[in-house]
Amino acid sequence: MKLRLSLFLLLSCQSLFAQDSVYARRIVDTLTSRYFWGRGYTNDGMGKAARFITSEFKSFGLQPLSGKDFVQPFTYNANIYPGKMKVAINGIDLKPGVDFIVSPESMGVKADGKLQQKDSVTFLDAEHRIVVLLQNKLTWSVEQAASDYTAIDLDKKAITKTPSSISVDIENKIIKDFKTGNICAMVRGTAKPDSFIVLTAHYDHLGGMGADTYFPGANDNASGVSQVMSLAKYYAKHPQRYSMVFICFAGEEAGLLGSMYFAEHPLMPLANIRFLINLDLEGTGEEGITVVNATIYPKEFEQLKKLNTQGHYLYKVYSRGKAPNSDHYPFTEKGVPAFYMYTMGGIKAYHDVFDISKTLPLNEYNHLFKLIVDFVGAETR
Ligand SMILES: [Zn+2]
Repeated sequence: MKLRLSLFLLLSCQSLFAQDSVYARRIVDTLTSRYFWGRGYTNDGMGKAARFITSEFKSFGLQPLSGKDFVQPFTYNANIYPGKMKVAINGIDLKPGVDFIVSPESMGVKADGKLQQKDSVTFLDAEHRIVVLLQNKLTWSVEQAASDYTAIDLDKKAITKTPSSISVDIENKIIKDFKTGNICAMVRGTAKPDSFIVLTAHYDHLGGMGADTYFPGANDNASGVSQVMSLAKYYAKHPQRYSMVFICFAGEEAGLLGSMYFAEHPLMPLANIRFLINLDLEGTGEEGITVVNATIYPKEFEQLKKLNTQGHYLYKVYSRGKAPNSDHYPFTEKGVPAFYMYTMGGIKAYHDVFDISKTLPLNEYNHLFKLIVDFVGAETR
């Protein structure tokens, strides 16, 4: 009987965790699919992602943080590449995203010409309006404005001979006041509803580069969004003493714009936030996690490490100081107690077309989930 009971418990626990992982994988698969087009500026990618996250939050029974609308709207400018994206070097057509990227501050250009070598990695056209740079790794980004030149990062592995000629046709467009918004939801606290635990992740990524190439952003940051959504689902069923807030930010890749906007226009008094946890790059973890702001909040960091050891969760919890590297930062600057946790080890794809769901392990997903639940429990006791 005892054996049967333990076996039953073991099986039911396993299926419970398996369910969580299945949900997380489904969310990462969904958000990285072509339909969402890298959650950026073309094909309404970011807008589609916002509506998907909102509908999930609603289906869990969460309330809008503002009281009436899940979306906190804001706008910003973006330099985007909606159309042609053709580059040929030495007469050979190159593959966007794989062989080359256009540097995100570049203006569009249509030209054919010779290239002159400036140094071992830099090549210029005759008018010095086109720069070709040889890179070991391609890393894309997004800019709000365009410069007066076009820079093309070329993967060294894509060419066999020294670049001597270029044929290029790239279209850019400045979008003024691109409309987007932060998705803000809440589960009201049972004892102290005016005190808040906030769990955040940015849902935007880089979008598309040309009409045929998009950046899926599985680790960055479909992984963090899936974790926040799983936690939201969990807390909707298990309300806490404090109010639990879930925010998916837009505009992170363009310079922490969504979190900056929220910190300037908070939907609750920032002084009432007991703690904020930001999740960005959560899809690996074989080497543990790093905690930004650990040195600013040593008591909470010790608590986190203790809970990790007790629960036998992650391989290691590393301490890091203050860093302006994700959406916790605008809150840190306002004095809101916050950690930013990211997973370590595993696949190194970052801001490139290889950051895909298929190769993202999500191997520490359940451990991280449980560590956060334990930490929230300890901080709101
Ligand atoms: Zn990110």
